[in-house]
Amino acid sequence: MKLQQLSETDSLTGIFNRRKFIEQLDKRFQKYKRYNRPTALVIFDIDYFKQINDDFGHSVGDDVLCRLTRDCASQLREVDSLYRIGGEEFAVILPETDAKDGCRQAERMRQVSEQLRVDPGGAAGKVSISAGVSELIDMDVSIEDVMRQADTALYEAKGEGRNRVVVSC
Ligand code: GH3
Ligand code: MG
Ligand code: MG
Repeated sequence: MKLQQLSETDSLTGIFNRRKFIEQLDKRFQKYKRYNRPTALVIFDIDYFKQINDDFGHSVGDDVLCRLTRDCASQLREVDSLYRIGGEEFAVILPETDAKDGCRQAERMRQVSEQLRVDPGGAAGKVSISAGVSELIDMDVSIEDVMRQADTALYEAKGEGRNRVVVSC
């Protein structure tokens, strides 16, 4: 792998990392400010992931991260990009998309996540995600603002019981 590729790739899942996320979101932010091109942001987090590690072990947890990444990526359009921005936290940047359509995409990822089993051979051990959705708005001064809105919506999704998508209002 080339050096630049390495610096923007998450080594476990092979998708883009947080550094690349910040860079790409900033590019979309500039586009929004200059040309008013919309962008939606989804931030999602695996529910009760600590429990998965505790019950099945860290390497099974790693495997869940990889399978979830693959399944979520399969739901996205070519123009959308998926990032691992934290341990079990991911983001999707959706260009030319508003929050309503971003919510639809998040819902599709939530549904494929539900099909995942922690232990593919066993019946128990379901996986789920909670997601927060936001879009760039005129009031945003920096990408921190749109990230905070998605984070707040994600926090609400957790508070309302998890395994759901909440759109920032
Ligand atoms: P919540 O539903 O509120 O999100 O609960 P949670 O258990 O998912 O969240 P919490 O933040 O308590 O735990 C996250 C866990 O993710 C703890 C940490 O050990 C685990 N984790 C972070 N990165 C990795 C990783 O790369 N591999 C594995 N296997 N586990 C990881
Ligand atoms: Mg979690
Ligand atoms: Mg988390």
